[in-house]
Amino acid sequence: MEQKQLDSLKKHNEQLAQFIIRLSNFYEGASDDVDQELQVLRGHLANKQNITLVTISIGKVNQLLMQNTKSIKKQTSDTIVRLESAVKKLQLSANMSDDLKGETARFLSSLSMHSGSVFSSLPQFERALILYQQALDNGSKNKPDRSYGQTKPPEKPIDDRLHANISAEIQQLIEPYLQNNKQDKQLGEVRKKLLDGLSQDELLECCLILIRLIVKDVVREVGVNSKVIDSLHRSIININQDVDNTLEAAQEHSEKRTQHNTLLKTHIDDMGDVVTQSKDLDRLKSEAQKYLEKMQSTISVREQTEKKEEQVLVNLLEKMQRELTSMEKKTQQYRKKLLEQRQQTNTDPLTKIPNRIAYNERIEQEFARWKRTQTPLCMAVVDIDHFKSINDKYGHAAGDKTLQVIAKHLRGTIRKTDFLARWGGEEFIILFPDSELINLQPVVEKMRAKLERLPFKFKQQPVSITASFGVTQFSQGDTIETVFERADKHLYTAKNSGRNQIIHD
Ligand code: GH3
Ligand code: MG
Ligand code: MG
Repeated sequence: MEQKQLDSLKKHNEQLAQFIIRLSNFYEGASDDVDQELQVLRGHLANKQNITLVTISIGKVNQLLMQNTKSIKKQTSDTIVRLESAVKKLQLSANMSDDLKGETARFLSSLSMHSGSVFSSLPQFERALILYQQALDNGSKNKPDRSYGQTKPPEKPIDDRLHANISAEIQQLIEPYLQNNKQDKQLGEVRKKLLDGLSQDELLECCLILIRLIVKDVVREVGVNSKVIDSLHRSIININQDVDNTLEAAQEHSEKRTQHNTLLKTHIDDMGDVVTQSKDLDRLKSEAQKYLEKMQSTISVREQTEKKEEQVLVNLLEKMQRELTSMEKKTQQYRKKLLEQRQQTNTDPLTKIPNRIAYNERIEQEFARWKRTQTPLCMAVVDIDHFKSINDKYGHAAGDKTLQVIAKHLRGTIRKTDFLARWGGEEFIILFPDSELINLQPVVEKMRAKLERLPFKFKQQPVSITASFGVTQFSQGDTIETVFERADKHLYTAKNSGRNQIIHD
C-alpha cells in the first residue's frame, strides 16, 4: 500500500514537472534574465527533481517577471516625461498660432492620464518625438525644395535636407493612420500639405498631429497588451500558489499516515498485551473485538485520507490543465497580434512593399554581411520623373494608383534575394546583394525601359512615366551613409542630364 502511494505521488510529481516545463516555454523571450532562469528551472525539473531548488527557481522567475513589469512602467513614464518637456518647449515658441497653443495645452493635460506598458509602438512614438524636436530646433523658414533644378548646386542646404527628410518620414509614419481613417478630414489635409510642401510652422503642426495620433494608438494598445501580460502573470502566480498548497497538503497527509501507522501499531501492541494477560476466554473475545473495531476505524480513516489526498492531486492537475489551455489560447492571440503589428510597422500601406523602417533594418544586415564576406553589394535609388505634375494634372488619387503600379513593376523586375523599399514619396531604394555593378547595368536598364513602356492612362490619354536611377557599388572604406550619398549624387546627375536615365559609378 505504501509503495502504491509513493508510486502515485511520483507519477503526479512527474506530470506537474512536465506541466511547469510547458508553461515556462510561454515566457521564453520576455528578457534574457527570465530566459536564463527558466532554463535553470527546466534543468531542475528535467532529471532528478529537487523540490527545494525548483521552489527557489520559481521564486526567482516570479521576481524577475515583476521587475520586468516595473522597468517597462518606468520606461513608459520616462517617455511621457520626455514628451511633456518637448511639448512645453513648443509652447514657448513665439510664432505659435492660438489654435496650436490650445492644442498643446489640451495635449499636455491629457498626458497625465497615461500609465501601463508600451510595447511595439514605443519606437515609433520615440521616433515621432525626435522628429518633433528636430523640427523645433530647425530654425529655418525656408520652403522645402527637393526638386532637381538645372541651376541648383548639387549640395542642398542642410536645413532644406532636414526639412525634406522630416516631411518624408512623417509621411511614412502617418500613412498607416490614413489607411485606417480614410474619412478623417484633418488627416487628409495633413497629407495634402505634406505632398504639396509645407512651411516650418505647418511642419510643426503636422508633427503635433502625428504625435497625438500615435499616443492615442499607444494608449489603446497598452490597454490590450498589458491586459494579456497581466493575466498571464496572474495565472502563473495562481499556479505557483496551487503547487505550494498541494505540496503542503502532501506533507500533512504523509504526517497523518505516520500517525495512523503508529496508532495501529499501538492497537496491535495493546491487543497483544490483553491476549497474554487475559485468562478469561469471553473477556478475551470481547477485548479483542474492541481492538479490532478500533483498528478497523483507524484503517478506514487512513483510507479516506488517502482518497482525499488522491483527489486533491487530481483536482490540481485538472485545474492546471484548464489554466494551461486558456493560457495557450491567450498567448497565441497575443503572438498573432505582435506579428501583425510588426508586419504593419515594416510595410508601406500604399504600395505594400517594405518601408524605410524595414530598409534601415535590412541595410544594417546587408552591410554587416558585405563587411564580413566581401561579396559584392550594390544600391540603387530611384526617383520618378516629374511626378508632381501627375498629381497636379490628375489628382492625388491618380498619383497614388500610379505609385502602386510602379512599386509592383519594380518588385517584379528584381530577384527574390534583392530588396526593394519605398524610401518616401515617389522615391524607391533597392539593394542588390551578391551583384557586381557591371552585371547589374542591363538589369537596371531593363527596369527603366520597361517602366517607360508601362501603359498608363489618365483621362483616357496614354501617359508615359519615367524614372531616374543612381546606382553604386559598395567599396573599400564605405559606410552606409557614403554609399547612399554617392547613389543620390548619381541620381541628381541623372536628373540634371535630362532624366529617364541611369547614372552609375
Ligand atoms: P523630379 O523628381 O523629376 O525632379 O520631379 P518631381 O515632381 O517628381 O519631384 P519632387 O520630388 O519635387 O516631387 C515629388 C512629388 O511626389 C511631390 C508629391 O506631391 C508627390 N508625392 C510624394 N508622395 C506621394 C504619394 O504618396 N502620393 C501621391 N499622389 N503623390 C506623392
Ligand atoms: Mg523626389
Ligand atoms: Mg521625382
